[in-house]
Amino acid sequence: MAVIISDNLTKVFGIKTVVDKVSFEINRGEIFGFLGPNGSGKSTVIRMLCGLLKPTSGQGFIEGINSNLDGDKIRRSVGYLSQKFGLYSDLTVKQNMEFYGRVYGLSDQSLKLSIGELCERTKLFPYLDNKAETLSGGWKQRLGLACALLHQPTVLFLDEPTAGIDPVARREVWDLLFDLSNEGITMLVTTHYMDEAERCNRVGYIYLSKMIAMGTIEELVNSPNIHPKGFKQILIEGDPIMDIYGLVRFKPEFKDVTLFGKSLHCSASDNFSLDNISSFITSNTHCKNVVVQDSKPSLEDVFVTLTKAQDNIQSN
Ligand code: ADP
Ligand code: MG
Repeated sequence: MAVIISDNLTKVFGIKTVVDKVSFEINRGEIFGFLGPNGSGKSTVIRMLCGLLKPTSGQGFIEGINSNLDGDKIRRSVGYLSQKFGLYSDLTVKQNMEFYGRVYGLSDQSLKLSIGELCERTKLFPYLDNKAETLSGGWKQRLGLACALLHQPTVLFLDEPTAGIDPVARREVWDLLFDLSNEGITMLVTTHYMDEAERCNRVGYIYLSKMIAMGTIEELVNSPNIHPKGFKQILIEGDPIMDIYGLVRFKPEFKDVTLFGKSLHCSASDNFSLDNISSFITSNTHCKNVVVQDSKPSLEDVFVTLTKAQDNIQSN
């Protein structure tokens, strides 16, 4: 059975439905990436799953336990690093861990063992007596993670654990997440970074309170909804690329034309072969080194396309 189950979870605040029948399942040891623009409902889903907020309808289950019915049991299996996780800046690393350990009701002995083990895992040992306020962003997140893991949960909810930290620290946090996943810990991670999403086993994309796409990266980039009928995804290079952009941008044979550095990603009509496109560009511009090839959409292309499609449904 899946370790985390969101079964039609719905939350209405006043007259606003902020989470609308969101369903997904996450298996043991999986890292599930939860994506979507700010305000789309991610944190609210997490709070319902952790038993911190009562759903208006639908149910959440963690390790087979209904999140809404047995909050205490849920909190024993769950580690939660909230978006606004509060470290006590004037306490040391060790004192922060001791504080959170006591909140979880750990005995002195298990607390000591847990702190030792987690400092090893997170490499926090050298900083044990430093005040939390002196840590850099990446180390603060490690400390947050360590605090969320003190009671040895089997499930972790990480709400934007790498927001605002530098790329090296982000990578280090992810290395740690992979270690945890290898140990069988099941994780739901929210992020705005596409490179992080690509490292997840599966991702779900929530937009305007609804889950509008879910699957492995492979499944999402190959999804039929992403490829307009009669069009193929291509990549065009050439110098200067802006001339090609200007040429194809408003032509009906091309859709979703997007600049990525020195290349263009777009969909092109199947009636137009790669050779035809190439000659079309060379005969209508003075561009050099023109290359036209088949390509796959990036994960970002997928979300942009799905978001636009959803906006069209809403406005019709
Ligand atoms: P995300 O985490 O995707 O940015 P949230 O789940 O935090 O989104 O918020 C979704 C929507 O619910 C937002 O419009 C937010 O303002 C609203 N919201 C969240 N909590 C409350 C609350 N306690 N009362 C009223 N509205 C809320
Ligand atoms: Mg949030």
